[in-house]
Amino acid sequence: MARNSSHPVRMCIVCRERIEQSALIRLQCREGNLEPYIGMGRSFYLCFECVEHKKTSGQLARHCKSNTPVMLMNRLKEIVVNDG
Ligand SMILES: [Zn+2]
Repeated sequence: MARNSSHPVRMCIVCRERIEQSALIRLQCREGNLEPYIGMGRSFYLCFECVEHKKTSGQLARHCKSNTPVMLMNRLKEIVVNDG
């Protein structure tokens, strides 16, 4: 049954669900700012359902070592809009 291995699965940092990579938003932090992943450096994943999750700002702040979670959330929403 596990024959189809061409769809890599990654974990959302908020809900910790394991989801197909194509259904996740891939992000990274550069100089404390949230950015879409550009192909180098460390990255992490967020599922679309967690964009509005109450734990998301805290998780983003932790990953970005930032104390401005509201700014990170605003940036996240920009990235999501541009992505769609
Ligand atoms: Zn999630």
